[in-house]
Amino acid sequence: MERRNTMQKALTYETVMSYNGHPSADDIYRIIASEHSSISKATVYRNLSLLSEEGKIGRIEAFGNGEVHYDHRIDRHHHGYCRSCGRVVDIELSDDNDFLGMATPVEDGFVITSGEIIFEGICRECREKEKKNGTERIKN
Ligand SMILES: [Zn+2]
Ligand SMILES: [Zn+2]
Repeated sequence: MERRNTMQKALTYETVMSYNGHPSADDIYRIIASEHSSISKATVYRNLSLLSEEGKIGRIEAFGNGEVHYDHRIDRHHHGYCRSCGRVVDIELSDDNDFLGMATPVEDGFVITSGEIIFEGICRECREKEKKNGTERIKN
């Protein structure tokens, strides 16, 4: 049983690492289940939580559509989500070392230890769709 658990965890890790983007837990489960039908959804979800607690994969807290996303990148970077389809993209800041210094807690005595900025936007695919339908909201 122990070996089986280790194997399933390794498989979950590999699936996140080879995913191009920021999968939801359900995305990862669907990929694994397509080849390993005996692995339960609960097991995949539990392994994703464990891996992110151990710092082996990134975890992006729910925003937009309320879904948690995972990340093969664990270095500090920021995220934007498409307000139309909920897709998550990476965002780099021009001066990433300084952004925490620019933040001032409004509540007295609060100390910032780490942080991430979440941006909202529209992804290229959704913009192209909107252009075709004549419903675009952002022009450029
Ligand atoms: Zn989109
Ligand atoms: Zn990312």
